[in-house]
Amino acid sequence: MSDIFDVIIIGAGAAGIGAGLAARAAGLNAVILEANGRIGGRAHAVDVGGVPYDLGCHYLHNASRNPFAAVALREGWRVRMDLHATSVPEMAYRGSSRLSDDERAACARFYEACDEAYITADGDVAGASVIDTASPYYTHYVGWCEAIHGVPPERLSTGDYQRFADVPEDWPVRDGYGALIASFAKDLPIRLNCPVTAVDRTGALVSVETPKGTLRGLSVVVTVSAGVLASGAIRFTPELPAVVQTGLEGVPMGYAERVCLTMDGPVFDTPTQSVHVVPTQGPAAGGMLSLCFTEFGDPTVGAYIAGDLAHDLTQEGGKVALIDATEAALAEVLGKDVLKRIVARDASCWSTDPLTLGGYSAALPGRTVARDALAMRFDERVILAGEACALDYYATAHGAYFTGGSAIATLLKEGLGRGGSA
Ligand SMILES: Cc1cc2nc3c(=O)[nH]c(=O)nc-3n(C[C@H](O)[C@H](O)[C@H](O)COP(=O)(O)OP(=O)(O)OC[C@H]3O[C@@H](n4cnc5c(N)ncnc54)[C@H](O)[C@@H]3O)c2cc1C
Repeated sequence: MSDIFDVIIIGAGAAGIGAGLAARAAGLNAVILEANGRIGGRAHAVDVGGVPYDLGCHYLHNASRNPFAAVALREGWRVRMDLHATSVPEMAYRGSSRLSDDERAACARFYEACDEAYITADGDVAGASVIDTASPYYTHYVGWCEAIHGVPPERLSTGDYQRFADVPEDWPVRDGYGALIASFAKDLPIRLNCPVTAVDRTGALVSVETPKGTLRGLSVVVTVSAGVLASGAIRFTPELPAVVQTGLEGVPMGYAERVCLTMDGPVFDTPTQSVHVVPTQGPAAGGMLSLCFTEFGDPTVGAYIAGDLAHDLTQEGGKVALIDATEAALAEVLGKDVLKRIVARDASCWSTDPLTLGGYSAALPGRTVARDALAMRFDERVILAGEACALDYYATAHGAYFTGGSAIATLLKEGLGRGGSA
């Protein structure tokens, strides 16, 4: 292979697709190299017993500012225009015992107090240091916090929390957010099964090594996750500068996984019934699972398992452990017989997937500025993009997409590494 490109984009997730579209719009000779045999990265919709199910992103967050939402509406994708999900659903359980209305109200007040404490925290400190960790609702809250941020309150940065540009619009995509994002990649020049092993920026052109040969480009956009970048799976010559290494140390990956059980019919009559469970037995005992029954009326039970619980289960037994934990929690709340109604199962395993190594990025307490280090320029020809670099919309698909487009805009403005405007 002796191709020479204006820009080589590494990774075909939301950020890589955003970069690819911007490069095409600018008339650049670009290529996207993707290690996996599919596009989308953490945007991945699968079929579980005949029902589309997102194993990664599912909600169009910040919908009114989200380009994927605009296209979904225009093209007739099936979405539900929800506000934020209720933090404490009507059905919240500790083991098999359901919280009373009073307990639920107290739990909701505790969640609100935590949010308020993060917003008003003085400086960038650990979330746990500004909330009441002795609250009887703390275990429920840890699960909720982990679902949103990928980490428990002791590893939540209040600085990161404060900088997220939150808008209370979270629209689930019935046809799959993963499928919606994949539709954006139509006709982009993507090479699948093409893992990049090295990027050498010492020559006149940047060299990008893959098992299928070496490509050369005027510029390179690297969109792999912060977890993959930190793992050293891609060798950089010269090494990534100390400022970027420090950025990666300050913004590690949190964990988040999704499980789908497709049933022989809807479990509840009411569509999209949320249930939060703190199991007292089974593999997830002491953690918290967010279950969603009969979403859109489909015969599914979805589970969201995040943070340390997701990490520990996937380390122990991958997808199977996540599915077992979900079934055990379901049986504890609704009785064992419900398990006989399962007709198909699937789960993600982002935490151990070598192409992701985590769910989404979460700055450590005191280190939110480390994100700026990931987003800053360190080389006129190589630029990092992806959700971890999205300062206002990190941990989201549209945030990742924006970083891809801006990376191309920046490179163009700087003349693709040749100096001056292109
Ligand atoms: C369980 C879960 C639920 C989520 N829910 C939501 C949600 O509801 N809404 C939302 O907005 N966001 C959500 N997110 C976050 C969102 O999915 C991500 O922020 C976004 O998809 C990240 O896109 P990206 O392009 O930055 O990274 P990725 O999607 O990780 O893309 C990087 C790509 O690089 C590839 N790659 C890795 N190594 C190499 C290599 N060496 N060479 C070439 N290619 C390589 C990967 O295979 C991947 O395709 C969720 C994430 C998870 C895990």
